[in-house]
Amino acid sequence: MSELVSGRIRHNAERLRLAHLAELAEQLVARAEEAKMGYLEFLDVVLEEEVGIREGRRFRNALKLSGLPHHKGLDEFDFAFQPELDARKVRDLATLTFAEHRANVCLLGPPGVGKTMLAVGLSIAACQAGYSVYFTTADDMVRNLKEAEAGGRFARKLQTYLKPAVLVLDEVGYLPLSRAEGNMVFQLVSRRYEKGSIILTSNKTFSEMGQVFGDEVLATAILDRLLHHAEVLSIKGPSYRLKDRMIERVEGGGADKRAS
Ligand code: ADP
Ligand code: MG
Repeated sequence: MSELVSGRIRHNAERLRLAHLAELAEQLVARAEEAKMGYLEFLDVVLEEEVGIREGRRFRNALKLSGLPHHKGLDEFDFAFQPELDARKVRDLATLTFAEHRANVCLLGPPGVGKTMLAVGLSIAACQAGYSVYFTTADDMVRNLKEAEAGGRFARKLQTYLKPAVLVLDEVGYLPLSRAEGNMVFQLVSRRYEKGSIILTSNKTFSEMGQVFGDEVLATAILDRLLHHAEVLSIKGPSYRLKDRMIERVEGGGADKRAS
């Protein structure tokens, strides 16, 4: 390839922000020659590599912005440990139809059953599919919104929780909220209703949400919007956090070993 042509390709590729092509045009051509690629095949390789790199970068960026507490994917989830949980339902959710329909996901159950891990796994899948994701605990969100309200920045702060296509609201119900705090959750849920998805995790049942949100009427209004389009998974099973201890107990021949 002449200097002039390769220089112009680099220049044009940069202007079009085709970073991979700008950097590696000559290598790509050499590869094409070696493999005796046809014109179509060559174009295909160039575009595929460019898109692949861009999506990889977008995925990494999306993960960074999501604020996920860890990056354990659904492939690491041991479904055999949680036999009451319908693995097929989780795999269906991982196809992200719920996000496409702006529907919600509620993961309910006692501590340690994998609610947060499943929420994170679905979030990673969503990032991969091109959705923006933001992860927060309910308490952090309420604290941030209260601070913003005190500083006259409530509406702007609320945008943080409205903008992402998928919002993970983790640990709803760990701390009961005051009526004013519950009202903030109501504003969030009603403004996201049919506009974006929420993945909510809670150790409480829906009937206990009156206590969580500080008011029965408010709780009903929140659940009404949350559950209109929602998949609910109630996980009844053992805590994974206690798994090793349970195994120790079985192998050690009794609980007395632990108690000592
Ligand atoms: P929860 O949010 O329900 O309290 P977590 O999702 O935080 O539970 O799970 C507790 C710990 O156990 C985490 O480290 C998580 O990765 C792990 N864990 C939970 N369930 C499973 C599972 N079925 N397979 C693999 N790891 C699991
Ligand atoms: Mg959790």
